[in-house]
Amino acid sequence: MIGLTLAATVSASAAAFTWYLGPMLARRVSERRLRQQCAQTRSLVLTYDDGPGASLTPRLLDLLRARDVRATFFLAGFRAAEHPRIVDEIAAAGHEIACHTQRHLNAWRAWPWRGVADISAGYQTLSRWVPKDGMFRPPHGKMTLATWAAVHRRQAPIGWWTIAAGDVAQRLPDSNSSVEQARRVGGGVVLLHDFDREPERADFVLQSTTQLLDAAQQEGWTIRTLGELMCNGTKNAA
Ligand SMILES: [Zn+2]
Repeated sequence: MIGLTLAATVSASAAAFTWYLGPMLARRVSERRLRQQCAQTRSLVLTYDDGPGASLTPRLLDLLRARDVRATFFLAGFRAAEHPRIVDEIAAAGHEIACHTQRHLNAWRAWPWRGVADISAGYQTLSRWVPKDGMFRPPHGKMTLATWAAVHRRQAPIGWWTIAAGDVAQRLPDSNSSVEQARRVGGGVVLLHDFDREPERADFVLQSTTQLLDAAQQEGWTIRTLGELMCNGTKNAA
């Protein structure tokens, strides 16, 4: 009886390891590689998730245009469907557009088939701007073996980050904290969000972006898109 219980526990642990921890370990390896690539090439990558936001994204595009830099936008399909013209503006400005699913489901909390379907639906909605094998970032940074396999099947690179700016934290940090983190390691891939929220959060995103770009100028970092950093180049939808 004890042997059976032990065997069941071991096989349940092995299943959990494969289902959740397998993708997590792959993520850790990718993050370490990103950190090395940033430090070696003295790169700063600005990434914005969950948009577009009808108010914040145009302001952000103005800021990026004024500084003549390109960023990477991981769009949520449902918001892109609401604001296709803003997505056109992001594309026209030469930024990289990538997939962040349709409904922003957390793969750890959704049924496996729903998590996989959310990825396909996101690519479907974004097909005007993102190719089938365009870059992907999982909502909440969570993947299971099922969603990982779905992304792997379409040969889409997964775009992780190395610095979370904290604009979705319950309490906003100092907007300079991502700059300090980037200075410590010589660049980085910064995660921010451009969906519309309270005004102070929009201001935080714009302020953090400005401070990061100022620091890049002082430190001599090159601003790249995530695709450029990962050596895949920016893929555009045909
Ligand atoms: Zn997200």
